[in-house]
Amino acid sequence: MNADTPVGACLNCGHAHPSRDDFGGLVRRCTSCGLGWTVRDPTTTPARYDLDYFTGGGYDDYFRDAPRRFEAGRRLRWLSSITRPSVLVEAGCAGGYFLEAARNAGYTATGIEVSHAATTYATQHLGVPVRHGYFEHIAPTLHADIVCAFHVLEHVDNPRTFLHAARHTLTPGGWLALEVPNIASAAATRLGHHWPGLQPEYHPWHFTPTSLVRLLTATGFEVVRQDTAVFRYYMPLRYRIRHARRLLPADWLDVRSPRLTHRRRGDLLRVIARKPRPGRSDR
Ligand SMILES: [Zn+2]
Repeated sequence: MNADTPVGACLNCGHAHPSRDDFGGLVRRCTSCGLGWTVRDPTTTPARYDLDYFTGGGYDDYFRDAPRRFEAGRRLRWLSSITRPSVLVEAGCAGGYFLEAARNAGYTATGIEVSHAATTYATQHLGVPVRHGYFEHIAPTLHADIVCAFHVLEHVDNPRTFLHAARHTLTPGGWLALEVPNIASAAATRLGHHWPGLQPEYHPWHFTPTSLVRLLTATGFEVVRQDTAVFRYYMPLRYRIRHARRLLPADWLDVRSPRLTHRRRGDLLRVIARKPRPGRSDR
């Protein structure tokens, strides 16, 4: 976390609204917009994103073709319901499967990735163009019609800096597509400490639908679409049917419906926002 975001001040609201402890003191939550930030233990070293990150700790299937291609296809269909094939940059592209899907659908797609191991995998195994480094550093050299960042914003040092970089990269009228864990999900409330989105060593930020929309608006974007999805959304139908007895009861409890998406209560928070064209609104 940066020095300009002290513990106790919300990135959206500053000190204007107080914050409170949540998740047993692991997270502070703004009482106004609901944004959360992890209370860092100053004795721990910052998270590293190399081979270990993508091969352990729940990310061990990051380089498996079938689940990653299914997930990439889902994300591309969601994005393509609004955008047309054009120039796309993905920040934090991991193994490169979304870039592969986008390229196959006619997009000119390149990625930026901080993990050297993931960059090597994407370029050598999938043959997609990926630059190794931080999006915030490389973005000023790029122009794109679409910027995507799936499960990235909760990892960055400063989400405002990241979003300003995305806005600078985008052409007027360009699209920003984000997905992050939803700390306002029913599962986060139900599971508490055991909520898989918590990951205090890797996630300094925790978003709710309200706080993410507010942050995007404050950084110059128009939010066009916002919803949430349950984890089952990224599981192939055959898998969902085979494991229905294990998977369905929790989702039914959480979103009170067999549907895979919900306006606010699902596990994964998704937003498509737009950089306005000068002098007019695109909504
Ligand atoms: Zn706030």
